[in-house]
Amino acid sequence: MTDPQHPLKIPAAWAPVPDHLTPQRDITHAHFRPGEQVVILQGVAGGELWGASMRVVTPSWHTPTDENGWRLRDPDGGERSYVTAHPRYLVHLNRRCPDCLIHLRAMEDSLLPKFTGNTGVVNCGWYEITALNHMIHIGDGRQSR
Ligand SMILES: [Zn+2]
Repeated sequence: MTDPQHPLKIPAAWAPVPDHLTPQRDITHAHFRPGEQVVILQGVAGGELWGASMRVVTPSWHTPTDENGWRLRDPDGGERSYVTAHPRYLVHLNRRCPDCLIHLRAMEDSLLPKFTGNTGVVNCGWYEITALNHMIHIGDGRQSR
């Protein structure tokens, strides 16, 4: 088994691909509620999308985008068990949600064909975490615009 927290070194043929969909995703802050289980997609594993599963804790200002975000608990986060993320980074896991399924399907259509035959784990590196534990999508260029 490959540990998704420690992805293998990526062969050149499986270079990470950019995610242009998440930064443009239109989803409201109120779409999520405390206590819900969500995933933040990070890449591809064994031919499927994979990401970090987290629990929504409480509303929190998302400093990198200057918009309302959500404080999340990552059970595998170690020193970074609590991070703050923008709602558009989150995908519902605890219920079949049409809005989130549309986004998941779009991500699959965009990414999976580029990783056909790859049975390993590819972390595409779409997210960075600031010193204040705010997750920021690298395609979220608002801070530098
Ligand atoms: Zn949803």
